[in-house]
Amino acid sequence: MASKQMLRFVSTARHMPEKRDVSIRRRDFDEIYAGWAEQKAEEQASRCSQCGVPFCQVHCPLHNNIPDWLMLTAEGRLREAYEVSSATNTFPEVCGRICPQDRLCEGNCVIEQSGHGTVTIGAVETYITDTAWEEGWVEPVVPAREREESVGIVGAGPGGLAAAERLRRRGYQVTVYDRYDRVGGLMIYGIPNFKLDKEIVTRRTKWLEDSKVSFELGVEIGRDLTFADLRAKHDAVLIATGVYKARAMQAPGVGLKNIFPAMQFLTASNRKGLGDEVPAFEDGTLDADGKKIVVVGGGDTAMDCVRTAVRQGAESVTCLYRRDRANMPGSQREVQNAEEEGVVFRWLSQPEAFHGDDVVTGVQVQKMRLGPADATGRRAPKPVEGESELLEADMVIMALGFDPEELPTLWGEPELPVTRWGTVRIDHTTKMTAMDGVFAAGDIVRGASLVVWAIRDGRDCADAIHKYLTGLEKTAPPEMTPTQKADAPAAAE
Ligand code: FAD
Ligand code: SF4
Ligand code: SF4
Repeated sequence: MASKQMLRFVSTARHMPEKRDVSIRRRDFDEIYAGWAEQKAEEQASRCSQCGVPFCQVHCPLHNNIPDWLMLTAEGRLREAYEVSSATNTFPEVCGRICPQDRLCEGNCVIEQSGHGTVTIGAVETYITDTAWEEGWVEPVVPAREREESVGIVGAGPGGLAAAERLRRRGYQVTVYDRYDRVGGLMIYGIPNFKLDKEIVTRRTKWLEDSKVSFELGVEIGRDLTFADLRAKHDAVLIATGVYKARAMQAPGVGLKNIFPAMQFLTASNRKGLGDEVPAFEDGTLDADGKKIVVVGGGDTAMDCVRTAVRQGAESVTCLYRRDRANMPGSQREVQNAEEEGVVFRWLSQPEAFHGDDVVTGVQVQKMRLGPADATGRRAPKPVEGESELLEADMVIMALGFDPEELPTLWGEPELPVTRWGTVRIDHTTKMTAMDGVFAAGDIVRGASLVVWAIRDGRDCADAIHKYLTGLEKTAPPEMTPTQKADAPAAAE
């Protein structure tokens, strides 16, 4: 039976943590939401109606036990709330901040559907875990017993790290390899500080190191170490390399100077924030300060680029997206934040050509309309004849999505099975590829997706690796079924 503290959704209005004043936040890279006081978190958690069938939990990729940790928070039993929330999630404080809750847990809360405004699940999850860090409740993993078997993980993003944590809990010796010089994958060099403070990622890195996860940074598999050597060193291998090949656009002038792929722009900005020397930023090339910026794309990456450009002091920031607002892949919450910060969105707009002699000076923008749905079920954008105009630009940032790199070629492993999209193909029951002892997780399996799905995959793979190493699955690699062969990666844009 629900605690008497709960079901307060009628008498208590929904509140998110305060957003910092836009005139201040658009000039710095600090997180935009201020923290909650304990009383506020308790009050907001008490709005939950403790559903018998909690749709919030069903729609959370980690199936977090949301009603239980909401009730414990409402009762002031925060340490227990933390134990429950961290049992299913390696990075609750990250997910609480950057999950698109409107599409996942909160979007499916029954209170939202009854018109009272969703329980602010993400903000409570953040509050619980931030408190746990402050109180010293987040302790390194100490397995009940150490095992001799070792697992090599390629990629220190959320997928690889979630697997590392779970494997350490079972006592495996874990080494994570990454070509970057820091741990975190897109959490460190992709997602900007105003959404996810880098300190949150680095304190988790330290926690993993304290949990005796080994990191080999600046090591690129396929360049510094062959995949065959990696397999020879470990009893099992997990590929969690993410997707990094920027999608390109064919248009006249696309090769002009000052047209950059999104990750080049975001990585430079994130490195600058982390205190690195970034010559291409310092000489002004990748700095939006004082410039007219045009960003092309409508996903989370585009939203991060426009908001980064605002903070760097751009004179103007315009986002071009070829579909309309309702059909964009990025989170509506992020669009709203960007609009508040002064970004101009031009929906149903696509670059037709880029102007300039050597350096870009403008974008010819073609007006679009939405035609009938295509094979993917989405309405395809079509040009509106005769409607095109020139937009001035000093810098253009292309955020059109990412595809996987060609791992079988890069790694000299033609046997590594990939789909026709280049994502690594696994058996969805055993999580293993057709190569014995080789598993895969995260974006490299799904296509560009979300942190929370990478965590889910990493945890599932760790369990599958445990089964494999304890002999339960140590048979010939399974044949793929026709359905698995046709398995498509998630849409990205
Ligand atoms: P990654 O995080 O990409 O990590 C892969 C790691 O593998 C990297 O560190 C890479 O250096 C390493 N690697 C690759 N190849 C090799 C190799 N050959 N040898 C060694 N190391 C290698 N998701 C959300 O949920 N919310 C958001 O708000 C959000 N915002 C985003 C903003 C941007 C700009 C981008 C690009 C993505 C965003 N995402 C967001 C998506 C999310 O970041 C990814 O889905 C998630 O990070 C995928 O995790 P992963 O572990 O599969 O891969
Ligand atoms: Fe919601 Fe994401 Fe937390 Fe799940 S992990 S409860 S989807 S914020
Ligand atoms: Fe509580 Fe909403 Fe989840 Fe129901 S759906 S358990 S009200 S958070």
